[in-house]
Amino acid sequence: MTSSFTRRGYGLVSAYSPDQAICRIDLSDNTNAWGMPPAAREALGAGSSSVRYPSPYADDLKCALANYVQLPDRMITTGCGSDDVLDSAIRALAEPGDRLAYTEPTFMMVPTFARVNGLIPVAANLEDLAATGARVLYICSPNNPTGELITRARIEAVLRECNPGQVLIVDEAYAEFAGASAVDLVRDSARVLITRTMSKAFGLAGLRVGYGIGNAALVGEVEKSRGPFKVTNISERAAIAAVTEGRPWAMEHASIATRMRTQLTVALRGRGLEPLESAANFVFVPIPRAMSIARGMRARGVAVRAFEQPSGIRMTVAPWPVLAEALDALDAARAECA
Ligand SMILES: *Cc1c(COP(=O)(O)O)cnc(C)c1O
Repeated sequence: MTSSFTRRGYGLVSAYSPDQAICRIDLSDNTNAWGMPPAAREALGAGSSSVRYPSPYADDLKCALANYVQLPDRMITTGCGSDDVLDSAIRALAEPGDRLAYTEPTFMMVPTFARVNGLIPVAANLEDLAATGARVLYICSPNNPTGELITRARIEAVLRECNPGQVLIVDEAYAEFAGASAVDLVRDSARVLITRTMSKAFGLAGLRVGYGIGNAALVGEVEKSRGPFKVTNISERAAIAAVTEGRPWAMEHASIATRMRTQLTVALRGRGLEPLESAANFVFVPIPRAMSIARGMRARGVAVRAFEQPSGIRMTVAPWPVLAEALDALDAARAECA
């Protein structure tokens, strides 16, 4: 809806609206099916006073995250989810009217963040990303929704082709499941921003904590654009607990998730399907009439994310008994759609 007082370009933006109804089993959003580290739960239980404002830029959390990624805390910024970090980065690094180039399919919030900040989103092949001349380049690795890991060599190739005015954002929301990261690129390049989240491997999606890693000057600009007080004091405490005391739990469960990913892939192949090789905590299954399949699964109490182009469903990994039920629902939905 546009009217006389709305911002130009917002007509192309719609509010986020995934399937709303709650399902018995929800494999639709890649949150942590095993929960959160007990240390984070304890930190939440301990509570804290919320009468005062939190620290403006969550300095204690920055230190904990700096230790986690083995870089100095001046190279870290935080946000209300990594969505906030992405949005703030786009706003900080580009002028309205500039372009943002991304590969397709990818994280569907990115074209939206481009538009709400006055940028023009353009889809391109990875090899042509820098050649678009776009001000901001976005790569998601492992990619949502395909699960594909973009190798460090391919990211470096994009970086080599960048002109001095371009910045590259690498979204590593699923890094913990990949066993690989491009985070050390920030040591040598002032034009790379890595974004990460506490929403997936650390199980804190509801607390909305994300972070960005980059050259101190770059991160400083993102932080200005983000503004103060974006991480609540409760969220900061739980996130610190998760990434310190809770780290072994998170790593162990990421490893269990990758085993379940293999098991799910094998089970899907056994059904004649061809799931894509995934480095994340979900699997993309190309399948005709994905929307109908997802509806059929939903009718059986299992939520997955359906995509029309390319047609497929994305399933979050979970403990095996849950996946077994989801596979039964998939079988039934396919029989119905046949
Ligand atoms: C889940 C996800 C995020 C994380 O979003 P938060 O705002 O941190 O919860 C970021 N990028 C991608 C690609 C994701 O899938």
